Formats: sequence, structure tokens, C-alpha cells
Amino acid sequence: MQHDIAELRRELVEISHRAYERGLVAGISGNNSVRVPGRDAALIKVTGACQGDMTEDDTVLVGLDGSVLEDGRAPSKEVRWHLAIYRANPAVNGIVHVHPPHATAWAVAGRVPPLIHTAARGILKRIALVDLAPSGSERLAELVAEAFADPDLTVALLREHGTVSVGPDLRTAYYHADYLEDTAKVALLAAQVEAADGYADFVSVGDRVEVAR
Ligand SMILES: [Zn+2]
Repeated sequence: MQHDIAELRRELVEISHRAYERGLVAGISGNNSVRVPGRDAALIKVTGACQGDMTEDDTVLVGLDGSVLEDGRAPSKEVRWHLAIYRANPAVNGIVHVHPPHATAWAVAGRVPPLIHTAARGILKRIALVDLAPSGSERLAELVAEAFADPDLTVALLREHGTVSVGPDLRTAYYHADYLEDTAKVALLAAQVEAADGYADFVSVGDRVEVAR
């Protein structure tokens, strides 16, 4: 079991590095977690650590009841809703929370991007919008857990904040975050293309596209 936990810590660090390097999160924001199989526990990033710089020492083992199981390490303040999701949905084994710019822009506007391309429709299926509540509050934990009580939901926007994605493992939760940001970005770009219609007509010529003015 110790070996498994060491492996999960490494995975948590690797996925967090990828999220930071991909530009899904800035500074010390966001926090990812992974369920520890066979125990009512999860590993989560400690508070104040940067996802891009974190090491295994920046992970902390917590009980699903909220108890901190390692001395000297404090979990991210968002730990409440991570644990609420694990308690609400036994099929979730990994959670990614990031602030990717395009998805967060929709969250700031209080709107959900349309599932604009086939990958979004096929993989994400639905995007929930969780209403605003203070970071780390019991109210936010309730709202997030309520949304993810739907076993088919994989992604949500937190209003004025960022994204939450879940999966049967941490890597899949990360891919869901990546697809959500991609969907949000393409939806904005498609809206720009639509808006450009007023000053340029896009004319398809065979397999080329030309702009006629
Ligand atoms: Zn956040």
C-alpha cells in the first residue's frame, strides 16, 4: 500500500506539471487530487504550492472525512469539495481543478460554452455551471457535490473562478480539463469568425478558402 501511495504521489505531481506547462493554471492556483484505492483517503496538493514546481513533498494524504493524515502539511483550501465529490461518486478517482483562460472567461461571463465540435459532444457531453460561493466554503462544497452527483457529468465551470473535471483516474480527469479548455477556446474563435462575416466574405474555392473583399 505504501508503494501504491508513492506511485499516486508521482502521478499527481506529473499531471500537475503538465497542467501548468500547458497553461491551464497560473501561479499557485488550482489543485488536483487522486483517490487512494482501498482506503477512505485521497492525495491532494498542499496549500500555496505551484503546480509547475511541486514535488511529492507538496502532496498531502487526507481522509475523505476531512482529517489530515500527515503532520506538518496543510491541504489546499479547496479540499472540501474534492472530498465531497469522492464521497458522492465512488466512480470518480481523480479530480483536476485549474483556471484555464478561455474556459474561465466563459465562467466569468456566467455562461457555458456550446459543445461546438464533435470531440466536445462525444467526450464531454455536458458542461455544468456551478454558482458563485467563497473559495473553500462549505457552500461551495455543497454546490460542487450537487453538480457531480450526476454520474455522467465530467466537467463543470465554477462561476468567476475556473474549472473542475473528474474521471475514473487522474489522467482522464486531466484530459477532460484539456477538452473543456479546447471547447471554450474554439467556441470563442468560432464566434469571432461569425463576427467577421460583416466585413469579409469567406468564399470556398475547391479545397482552398479565399477571402473576397
Ligand atoms: Zn481555483
